[in-house]
Amino acid sequence: MALIACTETTPSAPPQASAPPPQSAPPAPVASAPAIQPSPSIAPAPAPAEKPPATAEANPPAESAAAVTTPAPASAVSAVYGEKKPAAADKPAKQAASVQGDRTALSWYYMKKKKGEVPNFPPETKKYTEDQKALWVGKGKKVYITFDTGGPMGDTDLLLKTLKDNDAKVNFFIAGYNMKKYPDFIRQLVDDGHLVANHTMTHTDMNLQTDDQVKQEINDFAKLFKETTGKDVPPYFRFPYGRYNMHLLSLVSDMGYTSVFWSTAMVDWLPRKNGPEDPLNDILNNLHDGNIILMHQGSPENIEALDRIIKEVRKAGYEFGLLDDIS
Ligand SMILES: [Zn+2]
Repeated sequence: MALIACTETTPSAPPQASAPPPQSAPPAPVASAPAIQPSPSIAPAPAPAEKPPATAEANPPAESAAAVTTPAPASAVSAVYGEKKPAAADKPAKQAASVQGDRTALSWYYMKKKKGEVPNFPPETKKYTEDQKALWVGKGKKVYITFDTGGPMGDTDLLLKTLKDNDAKVNFFIAGYNMKKYPDFIRQLVDDGHLVANHTMTHTDMNLQTDDQVKQEINDFAKLFKETTGKDVPPYFRFPYGRYNMHLLSLVSDMGYTSVFWSTAMVDWLPRKNGPEDPLNDILNNLHDGNIILMHQGSPENIEALDRIIKEVRKAGYEFGLLDDIS
């Protein structure tokens, strides 16, 4: 089992590499915690040099990088998250009320299992209530690619062409500032039948914002989407860096959005050691029913690999879906 923590990348990932896991739960040592073995493809190429840091989502989030690439903190996190006591044990009597107010910062991650098997997910997912709408894996022979566009846009022509040539419809979570800067690209995505959804305006850690600020991030995005495309934004939301808390999950849900996490992610904010082979292998080695895949648009290797990814995933018996196919 390998643990893949939040691989959401960022220009300004708040915590540094040495930051402790954002959990307040004490890392009670757990005998049966799964062994952490970073998958080979996780070994990052060293320098993130070519990524422009200023607005680049692809600039390595120190925090995520640490969690994903260094076994030590990862296993600590895993011990905390992966094992804990059974969800029921710490469920308060009146769960909803208590959960809604819980602002303990959380970071999304999953624990990889054998090829073909749906990964394990953090225990807090078991506490999500119906008022905390969230998705992290679907069902059946469907795969949901979700491109995360919080940073560089990459080769958008090749991206659009590859999707069109393969007649594949996928999902995009785009930061508002990119939508503002590249409205034609957004319109093209929508015209081509892709799903473009809310990833906040500024792509910052929502844990660090007030409720009013979070609402504004989301509402401003929706407004800009409407101005840009003439359509209402689809009701899906992704927390930048996968950083959230139970309270925010409720807040976003109350605003009509389903929060979308993922069941496959890659260390794709760094140059890939084996070029496009890496994203291809990362995906094929973790392919499972309902797979929600996080890929960063700013990774050139992702876009280079996309044609083969689509063809190989189909060869494996899966078809691509939009998030609104999941219900
Ligand atoms: Zn993002």
